[in-house]
Formats: sequence, structure tokens, C-alpha cells
Amino acid sequence: MASGTASCDTPFDDLGVAVAPREPLAPHTWLGIGGGAGYFCEPVDVDALGRIVRRCHDRGISLRVIGGGSNVLVSSGGFPGMVVRLSAPAFSKITVEAPAITAGAGAKLVHVVSAAVQAGLAGLEMLVGIPGTVGGAVVGNAGSRGGDVGSRVSAVTVMLADGAVETREGSALAFQSRWSNLDDVIVIAARFELDEESPDLLTKRMQKQWIVERSEQPSGTRAVAMMFKDPLGTTAESLIEQSGGRDLRVGSAAVYGPHANYLVVGADCPSDDVRALVELVRATVRDRVGVELTPLIEVW
Ligand SMILES: Cc1cc2nc3c(=O)[nH]c(=O)nc-3n(C[C@H](O)[C@H](O)[C@H](O)COP(=O)(O)OP(=O)(O)OC[C@H]3O[C@@H](n4cnc5c(N)ncnc54)[C@H](O)[C@@H]3O)c2cc1C
Repeated sequence: MASGTASCDTPFDDLGVAVAPREPLAPHTWLGIGGGAGYFCEPVDVDALGRIVRRCHDRGISLRVIGGGSNVLVSSGGFPGMVVRLSAPAFSKITVEAPAITAGAGAKLVHVVSAAVQAGLAGLEMLVGIPGTVGGAVVGNAGSRGGDVGSRVSAVTVMLADGAVETREGSALAFQSRWSNLDDVIVIAARFELDEESPDLLTKRMQKQWIVERSEQPSGTRAVAMMFKDPLGTTAESLIEQSGGRDLRVGSAAVYGPHANYLVVGADCPSDDVRALVELVRATVRDRVGVELTPLIEVW
């Protein structure tokens, strides 16, 4: 819950939603660094979310949603607008209706993957080990070598900038590598269309994938981020290695040598150092290998 209350004057005081002014965002991100949000709230349901969204729309206040914060770098100046986190139970429900699963945007992706596997529903197990929420995964079309989440999404309930809620299906949804056409709406829930399969086989497949995923991620710290999208036909990791970029660092932000598409940060690392490191790695790959990498991590 937001640590502050609506005790001082904010543009949201009359809405019956607890809004914290000047909330630090570092605890809401994996990197654990960066400035705060002008306003922060965790609405209890869709109605409360709608009131906040409409007020931001009417007053010209920028609004962003934070999921698990595993793909966000908050700048040291922070984000002056409203940051919303869909952490309330109303946004985290997971409903199994074989062969489909519907999950709230605030549900952890790992919980949805586990629910699918337990119910004997195949198609999400390759996502095990990817941190974050359903909302973040669907918006960014998260995936692994085994496939992307978007290939299983059949419908998405979204809130528009004016607070209206609609469900998008079929040709209204588009997913490409680490991209979707949902980047200008708030995802409230998603429905996944899956295939029935033996829970035992699925569990084994998920465990195998989990071992691979864990062995490819930095261990011993949560203050990590994945830097770049994989270009078509190759991986960002191999390009960074080819360019000799695995030893690069800026201050206490460093490329994670064993898996060079990750960066790790030390305590109190300034956000600007992380940003500078991402640019340095990008420039190194461009100059030495001739490929322009696209950042995955989003700077706020
Ligand atoms: C150790 C580690 C391993 C990773 N491995 C992978 C991997 O294998 N594959 C991969 O694809 N990614 C990977 N990532 C990146 C990241 O985990 C994914 O991009 C993840 O899907 C982000 O989800 P999140 O909830 O943390 O989103 P956040 O980081 O909170 O947000 C990311 C973006 O999504 C938006 N967003 C979040 N929720 C909503 C919502 N409800 N409505 C609208 N917009 C929303 C945010 O505004 C922001 O623009 C990894 C990251 C780390 C740190």
C-alpha cells in the first residue's frame, strides 16, 4: 500500500483513493535505485483505478503503471506524474477455465505459469523464470527461446486514457519481438488460450526450463536488469561478447560478465551510471560489430 496518505493537498484528494505524494520508486524496482513518483497509488479495484485515470486525463497529469519493476530504470530525478501499481487482490486473480486461463495484470507471471502447469495446460511453461507481472509481460511480449507470451494471448481487457474499459481480441491485438500494440493503455487482465497436456510432463518441462533460465541469470543479487532486445537471428549477449563489452562498467554499474546482456549495480549506484553503461555497451557493439542494439530496459 502507498506509504503516505492523502493528507496534503493533491489533485486526487476527493476521489476516495489513497494517493501518496512523492513516493520513492526504488523499492518498487528490481534495480532498487532512482528517484520517486510525483504521486503513487495502488487502487483497490477497477472503479478506483478509473477515477485516478480520469483525473489524470482531465488535469493533464502523466500516468504510468509499474508492474514488478523488473524492466524499469527510474532516473535520479524520478517521474513527476502519477505511478499506479496494480497490487490489490482485484487485479491479481487467476481463473482456470481449461483450456484457457484468465489472469489479472497484477498477478505474478510465475504464479500464472504454475497455475497452468498444475492444471495440465501447456503453452506458458517456457516463461518460467521471467520476473514480473502479467501486465508487464503482455505489454512487452516477454519471452524466452521457447516462445513469447503474446502467442498465447487471446484477449486483453484494457483501460483507455479516459477511463473507459474495453476488451481487445483477434486482429485488435498485435505482438512482435518484445513489443505489443498495448503500449498506450493500461492492461487490466489477459486471457491465455492453452493446450491440454499431462501435468507430469509439463512439470518436468517447466523444471528443465527453470534450470536453464536460472543458469543464465545473474545469481546472488536482485539488483540486475536485462539490457537489450535480441536482434533477429542472434542474441544481444553474443554481440556484446564479440565486441569485447563484457568487462565494461560505469561507476558501480557493470556488465555481468558470465551473461553479458545483464547489468548489475552496486548499492547506491546512481541511475545516470546505469544509463551511461547501457549507452556505452550499445556504442561498443555498434562500433565493433556494426549492429545497433535496441534497449529492453525502459528509462523513466
Ligand atoms: C533477471 C531478469 C531476467 C529477465 N529475463 C527476461 C526474459 O527471459 N525474457 C524477457 O522477455 N524479459 C526478461 N526480463 C525483463 C522483464 O522481466 C520483462 O520485461 C517483464 O515482463 C517485465 O514485467 P514487469 O511486471 O516487471 O514490468 P515493469 O518492469 O514494471 O514494467 C515494464 C513496462 O510495462 C509497463 N506495464 C507494466 N504493467 C502494465 C500494465 N498493467 N498495463 C500497462 N503497462 C504496464 C510499464 O509501464 C513499463 O512500461 C528479465 C529481467 C530480469 C531482471
